[in-house]
Amino acid sequence: MKILVMNCGSSSLKYQLIDMQGEKVMAKGLVERIGIEGSKIKHDTTGKERVVIEEPMKDHKKAIELVLQVIVDKDHGAIESMDEIGAVGHRVVHGGEDFASSVIIDEAVMDALNRNIELAPLHNPPNIMGIEACKELMPNTPMVGVFDTAFHQTIPADNYIYPIPYEYYEKYKIRRYGFHGTSHKYVSIRAAELMNKDIKDLNIVTCHLGNGSSVTAIEGGKSVDTSMGFTPLEGLAMGTRSGDIDPAIIPFLMDKEGMSFDEVNNMLNKKSGVLGISGLSSDFRDLEIAAEEGNERAELALKVFTNRVKKYIAAYAAQMCRIDVLVFTAGIGENSDVIRRMVCEGLECLNIRIDDELNNGVRGKEAVLNKDLTSATIMVIPTNEELMIARDTLGLVNER
Ligand code: ADP
Repeated sequence: MKILVMNCGSSSLKYQLIDMQGEKVMAKGLVERIGIEGSKIKHDTTGKERVVIEEPMKDHKKAIELVLQVIVDKDHGAIESMDEIGAVGHRVVHGGEDFASSVIIDEAVMDALNRNIELAPLHNPPNIMGIEACKELMPNTPMVGVFDTAFHQTIPADNYIYPIPYEYYEKYKIRRYGFHGTSHKYVSIRAAELMNKDIKDLNIVTCHLGNGSSVTAIEGGKSVDTSMGFTPLEGLAMGTRSGDIDPAIIPFLMDKEGMSFDEVNNMLNKKSGVLGISGLSSDFRDLEIAAEEGNERAELALKVFTNRVKKYIAAYAAQMCRIDVLVFTAGIGENSDVIRRMVCEGLECLNIRIDDELNNGVRGKEAVLNKDLTSATIMVIPTNEELMIARDTLGLVNER
């Protein structure tokens, strides 16, 4: 079966067409500036030259219509007819407490997705628009929803309840949900596979370090705690997000700087993290170069970032008693030997011993970073959320 994977943002859309026989990517692309002047599609069919389509796209429906056209285009396309697409797998950011696994999308699921808009006002509406547009354009093709939050629904209440009055959990469902679940799930399964071990016998800590970053504790294949919370703002310091801060800073700043809720929210999401500390960049490549050249605030930003990752790893080691596997993934985790080394430094007490020779220069490929077999296995595993979405989609469609 061929599966189309869709990831709709507010003005962008990423897609992949995957042939599940051999799990091969047949085509992939990115649509930018949907609903804004200058909309364009960058489309790559495997083995053919990239095409760029610049055409007004007033909404997601128009964008998806053009994506489907280029996928079946006789010169640039990957398949002959849309009938070859057996199912569509949609990434959905927030499933709330309604979804602990992926689902075939029907009317009841659409109702639940709409109910959960309140929990993810920025992310869920474009996901829903993408699903609705696909349903209109491919009315007979099954659609599956795969949620960023679902993998974390196994987290026990003692790790998801916030120490604020319990009534706010009951009234508004304020609790830890966690995100990047599809990525944490994929790399943990892949780690067990590469080690030739049953995931049920492993305690794994996965570090998804990218523009947004989170760490997850996975015991026997189940997420038992994760660093992101009610929203993706909690946890690690990120490119532009603050992660954990003393909540009392918020009213203090509102008072001192005369900031509104929106301004504080914007500051914490867009102007904080390593960008905020360094005053330079949110991109770790820039920060590593600047730190190397002696920029002290860039160096401080990298240290704050890596100290936070260490704290979470240590907390999860304490929760699970031991760590068998430590996985690095996403843009920074897959590419930065500097950050991986800084994170592991000083964690020898937790049986984590990175080998510089094995770590140096590893970029974007699967690798083991320790020699000592009695220590925790440290791995780089490039994430593949699209493949995970496609696998879940295939599984559900085959079960029907
Ligand atoms: P997203 O969360 O948007 O999917 P990614 O996982 O692609 O982000 O991560 C993007 C980030 O990865 C960039 O902002 C950059 O900081 C970091 N990155 C990418 N390549 C490198 C590299 N070679 N060295 C250090 N950091 C890198």
